[in-house]
Amino acid sequence: MADFFDLTVTDIEKTVRDAVVLTLKPKDDNAFAFVQGQYLTFRREFDGEELRRSYSICAGKNDGLLQVGVKQVNGGVFSTWANSELKVGDDLQAMAPAGNFYSAGEMNDAPHYLAFAAGSGITPILSILRTALMAEPGAQFTLVYSNRNLNTVMFREELEDLKNLHMNRLTIIHILSGDVQDIDLFSGRVDAEKCKQLFAHWVDIGSVTMAYICGPEEMMLAVSASLKDHGLQKNQIRFELFGSAQPGRAKRPATITGSQTQEVAAKVVLAGDTRSFTMARDISLLDAALQNDVQAPFACKAGVCSTCKAKVLSGEVEMLANHALEDYEVEAGFVLSCQSYALTDNVSWDYDEAGG
Ligand SMILES: Cc1cc2nc3c(=O)[nH]c(=O)nc-3n(C[C@H](O)[C@H](O)[C@H](O)COP(=O)(O)OP(=O)(O)OC[C@H]3O[C@@H](n4cnc5c(N)ncnc54)[C@H](O)[C@@H]3O)c2cc1C
Repeated sequence: MADFFDLTVTDIEKTVRDAVVLTLKPKDDNAFAFVQGQYLTFRREFDGEELRRSYSICAGKNDGLLQVGVKQVNGGVFSTWANSELKVGDDLQAMAPAGNFYSAGEMNDAPHYLAFAAGSGITPILSILRTALMAEPGAQFTLVYSNRNLNTVMFREELEDLKNLHMNRLTIIHILSGDVQDIDLFSGRVDAEKCKQLFAHWVDIGSVTMAYICGPEEMMLAVSASLKDHGLQKNQIRFELFGSAQPGRAKRPATITGSQTQEVAAKVVLAGDTRSFTMARDISLLDAALQNDVQAPFACKAGVCSTCKAKVLSGEVEMLANHALEDYEVEAGFVLSCQSYALTDNVSWDYDEAGG
């Protein structure tokens, strides 16, 4: 749940100017077993304020390593600190691996995975790619990787090495938005038109069994629509968002009708304890829990990660944004508590049922 565990930084690799790869040694290895595509949420105080930031694991499931890649964001607090001040031997604190950016495995002996990554979006894709190439001998993998220019490409050498090792199974298509290339297709942005050209000439879209997308929302939407236009089903497309263009922190709009009191009777279950309190109607379930000293798990507070996932046991809530839960999870009553606001006068929700 909301537990944080200590990890020591055992190596810091800087292969491009604005990104680092951190190798981490957990004090308790058992807490950090992970599935390819999952992320860690770190916490650290900056000027007396605790920040929580998530970073995807870039190592493969069977590599015996715990590594994350952190790209420096201009003006970004955590990523700048990690790129400039963090040292080998320092201790960090992180929650156990979380996230659903993976598929349980193909029923197919010869799956063809297609992945679209942009910038630091390569990190979970690299984990998925490494795991598939190692664990599924019949798997083909096609990676479309877009960056501004060649010298900002994270994991360029690792990808080259993997390509050399798996010549006939791995295809990598680099698209550079800032550098002019000999072939137009490899320049510019990844949008619907680019996908159309790629699927016409370079990617055998008919053989693709599962697609993964990790990058900005605009690219994710364009690629996902194009994949569907080219015959993929919704359940064959998985995506991970690192940030959202949506107003994830917006308060619940005043238009919601139904119940009339301003206060809500709340009941929260966490780590086997049930707490009851009264909460204001215009704050999220997560903020209400935190304000009442329930140490609920959270990270992005923008509906992007699923750290604050909870199950609504009674009452009704409205979720303003959801970039993390699958349809079946929402149908089963799960919500992102940072984005959920009470619609009824009584609401109870359970963090234990979310299953980590
Ligand atoms: C599930 C998930 C997985 C992720 N995986 C990765 C990964 O593998 N690798 C990776 O590099 N990133 C990853 N991210 C993104 C990462 O969590 C951070 O969001 C990112 O590193 C930026 O954090 P920061 O603290 O450096 O920036 P922040 O301090 O949050 O700043 C972000 C931006 O906002 C601007 N800003 C900040 N404060 C203000 C202000 N007061 N006024 C105006 N502008 C402001 C900054 O200039 C910056 O441009 C992931 C995110 C999620 C949700």
